[in-house]
Amino acid sequence: MATLRSWREIPHGGVAFRLSTDVKTGDWRALRPVIDQSKCTKCMICWLFCPDMSIIWDGEKVFVNYDYCKGCGICAHECPVKAITMVPEVRE
Ligand code: SF4
Ligand code: SF4
Repeated sequence: MATLRSWREIPHGGVAFRLSTDVKTGDWRALRPVIDQSKCTKCMICWLFCPDMSIIWDGEKVFVNYDYCKGCGICAHECPVKAITMVPEVRE
């Protein structure tokens, strides 16, 4: 059974003191969504469901803004034609 602790005993968490547009919050992503452009019908359902507004439509194709995408996989789950695949994030 978990031991109850007061707020004074809880470890400090991270807080971003700058605008979210200044802080690249996608850097802890473990999985990366990759869109297969040959399958994408540009229905924008992924845009509708993305909780981070990381799906972009540039007038020609749909792509992911990896600066902010958290890799939650909701877009891949909701894509009706399964054009999005979640792949392991690789960092150099
Ligand atoms: S939901 Fe799938 S088909 Fe629709 S725009 Fe997104 S990637 Fe393309
Ligand atoms: S993985 Fe999550 S945060 Fe990233 S584009 Fe898809 S829905 Fe948005």
